[in-house]
Amino acid sequence: MTQTLDTPVLIAGAGPTGLVLASLLSRHGISCVLAERNTHTTKFPKMDITNGASMELLRRLGVDDELRRLGVASQHSFDVIFAPGLDGPEITRWRLPSVDEEWATLRGSPDGTRPGQPWQRCSQAIFEAVMMDRCRRDPLIDVRQGWQLQSCAQNGDAVEATLVDDTGDVLKIRASYGVTGNDGIGDFAYVTTVDPGGQRNYSFGTGDNVYLGFSPSGPARADLKWEETRQTDIGFDAYLLNSLSLTVDVYKKKTVGILQNP
Ligand SMILES: Cc1cc2nc3c(=O)[nH]c(=O)nc-3n(C[C@H](O)[C@H](O)[C@H](O)COP(=O)(O)OP(=O)(O)OC[C@H]3O[C@@H](n4cnc5c(N)ncnc54)[C@H](O)[C@@H]3O)c2cc1C
Repeated sequence: MTQTLDTPVLIAGAGPTGLVLASLLSRHGISCVLAERNTHTTKFPKMDITNGASMELLRRLGVDDELRRLGVASQHSFDVIFAPGLDGPEITRWRLPSVDEEWATLRGSPDGTRPGQPWQRCSQAIFEAVMMDRCRRDPLIDVRQGWQLQSCAQNGDAVEATLVDDTGDVLKIRASYGVTGNDGIGDFAYVTTVDPGGQRNYSFGTGDNVYLGFSPSGPARADLKWEETRQTDIGFDAYLLNSLSLTVDVYKKKTVGILQNP
């Protein structure tokens, strides 16, 4: 089941490229969601030789030692043998140096014309398992195995992507809540004001002279507050059992403390 997520980067596919990309982004402080349609890393050997430039990248991620420890041991050659069967006869052979031999060559030519690291043989099954374990432990990487990217579309400055989990169910949740205020009842209605329009006659002392005075416009209304309108909108889009789609929206609006002129 998928949910609405907000992420600066979505990586679809946790093969070697996705796994390394997620780790590199994290190294630069960028978080991501790493979505892989399979619930597990590959079981097949596939990628075997990781070249020197890639090993330099993996060294920057601090994972080179582990891959070398788990990969083919450094003393074994990379020779490619051409033969009609496993029992020979050998027709010809490409001589390719072992990691140990490569180290010796590279250390002897530190002029930048050669890679900084020898190549390494390491099955893709091992490679992905190591990198996935690392990604899972990384707080900046939200790993979602069993999630398949179904669609994505540009929406203004953002991209909206839909991912389906391995049960085929989709759920996108939308929710919003807000309070708006209304103070449209006139300024200073909460305090007592002096009303210049309501002039009062007043005579001071015992004299007959009548003077005009002012009086308060009414009692103060200390409890007077902004009128509040609370609005809640909750909805969901569901796609279930590969056949049924359902959209539900609930909208509620409630106004409290309605202002009314006396
Ligand atoms: C037999 C064989 C031998 C090979 N030997 C070598 C070698 O020695 N050296 C070498 O460098 N390369 C080798 N390769 C090639 C190597 O396997 C690929 O270069 C490598 O796998 C590419 O990695 P990737 O992450 O780009 O793609 P992939 O490994 O194909 O990974 C893509 C990932 O994305 C996932 N995915 C696909 N679509 C979606 C979707 N919609 N939503 C979510 N997830 C999705 C897939 O499940 C997969 O896990 C070999 C390949 C094979 C088949």
